[in-house]
Amino acid sequence: MKYIKKRLTIDKVVIDDIAKKFGTPTYCYSYTQLKKNINNFKKNFKSFSPLICFAIKSNTNLNLIREIQKFGLGADVVSMGELMMALKAGINPKKIVFSGVGKTSKEIDYAIDKKILLINAESKSEIKEIDRIARLKKKKVQIGIRLNPNTDAKTLSQISTGKKENKFGINEKTFLELISFCQNSKNINLECLSVHIGSQILDHKPYEKMLNVLDKIIDKTKHKFKFIDLGGGMGISYNDNSKKLNYQKYNSAIKKFLKKHPSKIIFEPGRSIVGDVGFLISRIIYIKENEKKDFIILDAAMNDLMRPALYGANHKTLPSIKRNQISKKIYEFVGPICESTDKFVSLKKFQKLKEKEIIVMCDVGAYGMSLSSNYNLRPKPVELLIKGSNIRIIKKRQKHTDLI
Ligand SMILES: *Cc1c(COP(=O)(O)O)cnc(C)c1O
Repeated sequence: MKYIKKRLTIDKVVIDDIAKKFGTPTYCYSYTQLKKNINNFKKNFKSFSPLICFAIKSNTNLNLIREIQKFGLGADVVSMGELMMALKAGINPKKIVFSGVGKTSKEIDYAIDKKILLINAESKSEIKEIDRIARLKKKKVQIGIRLNPNTDAKTLSQISTGKKENKFGINEKTFLELISFCQNSKNINLECLSVHIGSQILDHKPYEKMLNVLDKIIDKTKHKFKFIDLGGGMGISYNDNSKKLNYQKYNSAIKKFLKKHPSKIIFEPGRSIVGDVGFLISRIIYIKENEKKDFIILDAAMNDLMRPALYGANHKTLPSIKRNQISKKIYEFVGPICESTDKFVSLKKFQKLKEKEIIVMCDVGAYGMSLSSNYNLRPKPVELLIKGSNIRIIKKRQKHTDLI
């Protein structure tokens, strides 16, 4: 993504041309960036070749998951729908892990039938339910237990998951009790210890703390875990000056851990694989002038990109054509939806804009389209995959007739 002759381009495609040809709002993904992210992720942890299970919830586009599958990645799913989607994309069931605090009996039943690698259980009741269903089916099921390591991920509170007040995982005391329950069960094979402390983590220290907690608790259990699933959560830079996660330090901490506890490491990255792969292209419908600030009313809204409304997230926002004139007033970028939280960002000293011009929001590949809705009965945007100069529709724009 860069300006070539003042025109914003992804790979070899000019954004304004995409808007003209496919309309707006439009999601597009860069294949080049996707490939780079996956290769970098692998390279960062090369010495112990982990199983990388892409967190499907971050982007549920079938064709994009297919591309990810071609790099040999597995999947982390959190519902039956996501499991079906991962299988449809050709992901090997032996590379699929199923997470989530509220798996229903139907979902557990389906996961057992599909012979996935692991069901990561998050409560005593769930383990008993897996045991019951497995017994009925006369099957032995591989499971993991998700531990709540009571570790602060130092990220936004809305996306922190590893503290004791969070609903996720099982506390140490219950965890230790459940080990013997699993060891005595004929239908459960406890193969994995799993954790996931949160999302958009930029500091390696919470990961180090988490590994320390795992080290201590494994010593207490004396159980041999074949897999250690460290979850995902690796953060990305949403603006140019934010810090970057030190993968080297995280990698060293894991290597040290593995010396003491030899096992296969599983990761469940979502954002770090697809976050900076996606762009949301929208057109300015109107500019409403106000005393202190001007409202830039876009044809994209919170139903298309929910992260700003949901978490107060900021996405880098750029004009498709670069010009020199700067606005004296603050620009507030908003959507047309009838909610005051339907607001993307406020920016000072932005280049002077005109109605009908194109605006691009960056880093929307993760939790962008997957969190979108039809609120206000707005059809969902088209999704495009850009590979060099080739543009492919990987999901059609919804029509009003799909909704009405
Ligand atoms: C959401 C989630 C992930 C992915 O998190 P990212 O921050 O996108 O890497 C991984 N594992 C579990 C259990 C999750 O809930």
